[in-house]
Amino acid sequence: MEISRPALRHNVAAFRERLTAANGQELVAVVKANAYGHGVATVVEAVDDLVDRYQIDDIEELRELRPLTSKPIHVYGYVAKADLGEAVELGGIMSLYDPDRIEFLGKLGIPCRIHVKFDALLGREGVTPEELPDVIAAIPKYPSISVEQVYAHFANLEDTTDLVHAEAQAGVYRSMLAEMRQAFGKASGNLAATSGILAMPDTVNQTSVRLGIGLYGLYPSAAMARSCSELSLRPALRWVTHLGQVKVLPAGHPVGYGLTYRALRDMKVGMVPLGYSDGVDRGLSNVGEVLVHGILCPMIGRVAMNMFAIDLSSVPEASSEDEVVLLGEQGSQRISAEEVAAQLGTISYEVISRINSRLPRRLV
Ligand SMILES: *Cc1c(COP(=O)(O)O)cnc(C)c1O
Repeated sequence: MEISRPALRHNVAAFRERLTAANGQELVAVVKANAYGHGVATVVEAVDDLVDRYQIDDIEELRELRPLTSKPIHVYGYVAKADLGEAVELGGIMSLYDPDRIEFLGKLGIPCRIHVKFDALLGREGVTPEELPDVIAAIPKYPSISVEQVYAHFANLEDTTDLVHAEAQAGVYRSMLAEMRQAFGKASGNLAATSGILAMPDTVNQTSVRLGIGLYGLYPSAAMARSCSELSLRPALRWVTHLGQVKVLPAGHPVGYGLTYRALRDMKVGMVPLGYSDGVDRGLSNVGEVLVHGILCPMIGRVAMNMFAIDLSSVPEASSEDEVVLLGEQGSQRISAEEVAAQLGTISYEVISRINSRLPRRLV
């Protein structure tokens, strides 16, 4: 996997321009899920000097990221109570999403910075408006806990251009923030992920923004790709392998498990040495395409655990060891994560984040 340093740096710069320097917002790079499949060490190496903080999801990611950077790290997801002490000692800024955890964190007796996660009309982990008074009452009992920020997350900016729900969420967030300020003085907060930065510019006026998918050069939705094209985001990932074998199968010969494809004629086929265990979704069987010599070649037969076959009829010169591109550019052609996501009925986030972390990442 080739990860483009210039593309990552261009994307950070493009988003920086959207932040009004006067407000001094911090840019939090979201590098959970192995930096959306790009490789956390690779991405940190490329952008560490450009970002202010990082966000990851869990204790395993914190253990991996901590030695790679001196910047603050937020742990936003679930951490087992048994691991909270370690997480705090590693300097993780913990998300407080459940009132039940305050006592547990407090009794650790280790100084601990928290971000209170509001469930402002999202319906995931987080403190609801109804629970907030309990949280406000409980935190001061534990002097080791300091509230650094609060935050909320938008529910449907990727799915619609109708901002009614997002505005309602921002309203709930603001009133919860006001309650926190009343209780704790200068509590500050943040609300925007990539889609918020693009679709709800006002929310950028907070203490920080959380940049995930945009960092990697992808737009949260097709509508935003159109409406925000002036950002000229550059996809940072190129997924490359090589033809393991090239051969001619006689007409009628089956290809792969389940006999779901038969050679239409004497047919030149290539074996690609990646499969669903590597993150090539089995749903791409007889559906997906790859690039060989800059030409789109259909995937034929079923994707297996470690390999799949392609039709090389359009590339007579192809031979074993030639480069195969699953995502990214080759010659003048390009396969985007969005296109693959559309073939699979999912979103680009899933396509990239599921690429097996075992595959080597190389910064180019
Ligand atoms: C994953 C995540 C983000 C990043 O979202 P993008 O759409 O990738 O920018 C931000 N905030 C929270 C809470 C998240 O879980």
